[in-house]
Amino acid sequence: MKEASIKFDDNLPSLKKCPFCNGRAAIMKHEFCGASTTYGVKCCGCQSESWQFYPTKRMAVESWNRRDSYESDNEACDGV
Ligand SMILES: [Zn+2]
Repeated sequence: MKEASIKFDDNLPSLKKCPFCNGRAAIMKHEFCGASTTYGVKCCGCQSESWQFYPTKRMAVESWNRRDSYESDNEACDGV
C-alpha cells in the first residue's frame, strides 16, 4: 500500500506548457555547492528556463504558471 506516493509528494499543480514553443516543461533541481537546493522550471523543447529559482517545487511551478518572470515591467514606466 505504499507505492506511487513518492512522485506526488507535494500535490503539485501541473506545469503549463512553454509560452514560447508550447513544449513540455519540467521542474529542474539546482544545487549550489551542496549548500542549498532550489528549483526552477525548464522547457524540454526550446530549453528556455525560468530565470529565478525557488526554495520549493511548488513556488517554481506557480511562478511558471503565472509567468510573472516574462512580461512584467515593460509598461510600468512611471517616468521618474
Ligand atoms: Zn519551449
